[in-house]
Amino acid sequence: MHKKLFIPGPVEVRAEILNKMATPMIGHRSKDASNLQRDITNKLKRLFYTENQILLSTSSGTGLMEAAVRCCTKERAAIFSIGSFGDRWHEMAVSNGIEADLFKSEPGTVTSPDMVDDALKTGKYDLVAITHNETSTGVMNPLDEISRVMKKYPDVIFCVDAVSSAGGVKIETDKLGIDICITSSQKAFGLPPGLSMCTISERAAEKARYVKNRGYYLDLVLLYDTIKKKDYQYPSTPNLSLMFALNYQLDRIMDEGMENRFERHLAMAEYTRTWAKKNFALFADEKHASVTLTTVDNIRQISVKNLNEELGKRGFAISNGYGSLKEKTFRIAHMGDLTLDEVKDLLFNIDDILSLA
Ligand SMILES: *Cc1c(COP(=O)(O)O)cnc(C)c1O
Repeated sequence: MHKKLFIPGPVEVRAEILNKMATPMIGHRSKDASNLQRDITNKLKRLFYTENQILLSTSSGTGLMEAAVRCCTKERAAIFSIGSFGDRWHEMAVSNGIEADLFKSEPGTVTSPDMVDDALKTGKYDLVAITHNETSTGVMNPLDEISRVMKKYPDVIFCVDAVSSAGGVKIETDKLGIDICITSSQKAFGLPPGLSMCTISERAAEKARYVKNRGYYLDLVLLYDTIKKKDYQYPSTPNLSLMFALNYQLDRIMDEGMENRFERHLAMAEYTRTWAKKNFALFADEKHASVTLTTVDNIRQISVKNLNEELGKRGFAISNGYGSLKEKTFRIAHMGDLTLDEVKDLLFNIDDILSLA
């Protein structure tokens, strides 16, 4: 039996999208490929509220996160972490030989704008990397406030990991002054994994030209220049099947209406939070609780493993806590194409299994 996924990636994918991946292949140097890639770019620009260039990468989001820190840090990177994915971005920098410092917040809390200001005041950093929505803790950083601080430092490249928020939460890239905003296909976009997308500002691309040893496959300058020169084509063969699905999904998103999509995500989040507060507790401060997933503090000390086994028999899957938060928390993702009714159905079944209702 298929288990409907309420896990924070990969998410549940609608059958019509899966079917789009069975589209017959086209040559990646054909006119059709250029048209496909141009269409995707134009729609993604709308979704990211940006005039900047869009880059696709046949990798998961981690690929573009590594590319951003590697290609755009000339001096030193300031990596702000509010959980596992922020920590990982720092590891990527270090393992690429990039000078980088890690600024960590307590699990469940945010990166405060003051932390960013204090770090940048030193004048040591030329790149900032921030997680928008930390999928391990269910916390969403206050991007608006952080972006106000970033505007005081116009020479610093501003990179945002929006892997588990873009497509479900409004991110006004240009208004926020984000140079590189990164996401993956398998989270709020509601697609299978294997493709990542980012926006890239001209100044980030220009800066990267002066950075040595950017690698090849994930060289943002090579990607940026090639799609300009070759009518939206990529240096190497891209994941065309996922691009067919992405192009189709972007039409579905526009048909739903972006604002409606963001509101649907908020409605699912609010419903799940209310349920969590009634029966357990929220792990995150509610003011900063994620809109795409809820991390539930397991104050009843139920066995999350057993709960998920029982849910599995009924055709649902949720996620245990991430890393050291396993069994202490559990995570319910409500992103992508899931509906409020599907979330209600899941929570009804959890109530029934735990005899909570
Ligand atoms: C899933 C996730 C990642 C990793 O993305 P991949 O597409 O699996 O490489 C990074 N950051 C956040 C916040 C995520 O949720």
